[in-house]
Amino acid sequence: MSEWVSVLAVFWVLWLIDGAKVLSRRVFTFGPGWGLRGGFTFGRVSRPPFAPGGWRINASDVPLALGATGVCNRPAGAAGRPANGDATPQAWRWPEITEVGVAAGWVYVNGRRFCPDTGHVTGPELWAIAQATPAERGRWQAGLLARWFQSRRTAVRQRLLVGRTRVIAGLNTVVLAGAAGLTLYLAGDIAGRVPARAGERLAQVLPWVVLGLALVHATAVVLAWRVLRRLKAVGPEKRRANLFSALLLPPQALRLRALLAEGFFPVQHPLAVALAVGLPRTQAELAFNVVADLRWPVGEEEASPLERAIRVEFRAALAAKVAVELAPAGLTPEGLVVPPSADSAGSRRYCPRCRAQFVAGLTVCPQGVTLERFENPPGDRSSIAKLRQ
Ligand SMILES: [Zn+2]
Repeated sequence: MSEWVSVLAVFWVLWLIDGAKVLSRRVFTFGPGWGLRGGFTFGRVSRPPFAPGGWRINASDVPLALGATGVCNRPAGAAGRPANGDATPQAWRWPEITEVGVAAGWVYVNGRRFCPDTGHVTGPELWAIAQATPAERGRWQAGLLARWFQSRRTAVRQRLLVGRTRVIAGLNTVVLAGAAGLTLYLAGDIAGRVPARAGERLAQVLPWVVLGLALVHATAVVLAWRVLRRLKAVGPEKRRANLFSALLLPPQALRLRALLAEGFFPVQHPLAVALAVGLPRTQAELAFNVVADLRWPVGEEEASPLERAIRVEFRAALAAKVAVELAPAGLTPEGLVVPPSADSAGSRRYCPRCRAQFVAGLTVCPQGVTLERFENPPGDRSSIAKLRQ
């Protein structure tokens, strides 16, 4: 009996850590959600949902800004708070770029580590933009923005994923419930607590239950294997190896929907993913973060004139794109940045970016953003922020 309890303990530990990723930089993890929409986390650890029907979509902030003048490696319009500060600030005019390389997850420009290789702009693409004519560069920028904001495509893919994995998620639920039942039975010594005859019956049935669960497990993996062909990955296909490993290790096969989602979604701006699969509050929060980062960027004083020029160009293009993308969700940039109401009688100013409120004295927030004055006196409820219009 006790060896079975240890086997089950290992089973549950493997289930707990299955699919968890510890990353070198903060990323968005969208999910969990049984249905089509979910919340998000932002951090260095990305873990899949516990529910067998849960899904996960990862997204990184765009790690660079590019315009007609050149490219720099500090993001603009970032959705993450705090935003990643990955590399020493660098800015290049396009004609200055003589070499672009990719190694160990980083894009290198002129031999210097430039930005993480998130897939938003690949090394070869950056090289192509550097070689392009000014007119072509404008098209490149528009094309990249269009590619990062494919909310509709992401939503369609999400529906496909959930629709085609219904049976698989159901089978996963059966195995998970069965494993929980077996654990209760063995660890709780149920056989010893019931009358002797019932205990004998249970002992006879047990092997069949285990066999049944093994069959359901194998069926789920085989179905997932078959559905893989109809859920084509946009990047390199890694799911077959994961499915094979899941077949041999059942605790890794209890989130097959999340496993099939790996590499199935195109590389997007986090806001685009939120607009496609986020709950309304997720959409409003990330939309506010992006709009606030575009309007009240931080660290501009330390930036070189070249970097500032590039970021101004990039922000203008991104702001226009974001305004268009927000409309179907009923959000507008103006509506998102409506002043908050004062949270205490002493509040005199607020930071438009982080929304912290200050009593008299300070004129800039610790991040360097100029504070705004409350137009309405504290206590006036008419200034309550209306995020959704
Ligand atoms: Zn602030």
